[in-house]
Formats: sequence, C-alpha cells, structure tokens
Amino acid sequence: MKLISRKKAIIKGLSRYYTGKPCPQGHISERMVATCSCHQCKSDISNKYRETPVGKAKMKQYYRVARAERIEVIMFQNAKKRAKKFNVPLNIDSNYIKSLFPENKLCPILQIPLDYSGHDRNRTPSLDRLIPSRGYTEGNINIISKIANTLKNNCYDSSVFRRLADWLDQKLE
Ligand SMILES: [Zn+2]
Repeated sequence: MKLISRKKAIIKGLSRYYTGKPCPQGHISERMVATCSCHQCKSDISNKYRETPVGKAKMKQYYRVARAERIEVIMFQNAKKRAKKFNVPLNIDSNYIKSLFPENKLCPILQIPLDYSGHDRNRTPSLDRLIPSRGYTEGNINIISKIANTLKNNCYDSSVFRRLADWLDQKLE
C-alpha cells in the first residue's frame, strides 16, 4: 500500500489515507480521512455487528431489498440457464421481463400477491413458458407465482385441469 498523508488524501478527494503506522489495536491499515479511525477496526466492528441478532436481521432485510430491486435480472439469468438446460430458444432480455410484471402485483392464476423479496418461495414470481418448447421468447412467457407454475408444470392442455377440477369436486362431495 502506498503511503499518503491525510492532507494529501484530502487534496486528492480520497476517503482514506495511509501512514504505515499501527493503530492502537496494532492494525497496519488505512485510516478514514473523515474520522482518522483505523479502517480495519471499523470493518471489525461492522463484522461483529453483523453477527448480532439485530445485525443479522438488518443484513437479511438489506439482501431482500437488493434482490427485489434486481429481480428481473435474476429472473433473466435463471431463464438463460433453463433455456440451455432444456435446449429451448431465448430471445428476451431483463427489460422485457420487467415489462411483464403485473401492475396489480398479483399472480394472474391464483390472485395471490407476488413476493419479489424471495421471502416466500411459493409467491416468488416465475417465468412460465406457455408452450414449453417455444422457450423464452416474446409472447410465449408470462409471469405467474412459483406455486402456480409448479401446479401447471409443462402442461398446456386446459382439459387436463378441467378433469382435475372435476375429479377434485367428485372426491370432495
Ligand atoms: Zn485498527
């Protein structure tokens, strides 16, 4: 690491400087320009905080928000993997996926709220290939909840679901 005084770091607009001298804890680490505190001490404190129940909860919440913010990117990456795995075409991108998100944030099949944070797996939005072999292509994909996708699976013969409903009605009579 290059030696740089606090003064020079300020002139250069840097947030850290480095004197090569140990901190009271013995770390030979960069110091923060704003507070003169040791960077290693600072990260030790935040690492310890992350191990506490409050810190753990905060981190979990942070990752949930981060995940929800880039859900279409995650979904696109999954679609790419699945397209390869099932050897089906893909010609969409993450923006197209984003444009498909239902405005009312409900699964169009089950009418349950979609969960973009990954907290409730069943309510996570997922890409359904209407006709599986047509792959991840415009017009062939819809956003439905994971649980609805599991129920539907690869089937696009609606009579199957009518027979299933009839069978259920009959059994529950
Ligand atoms: Zn230190």
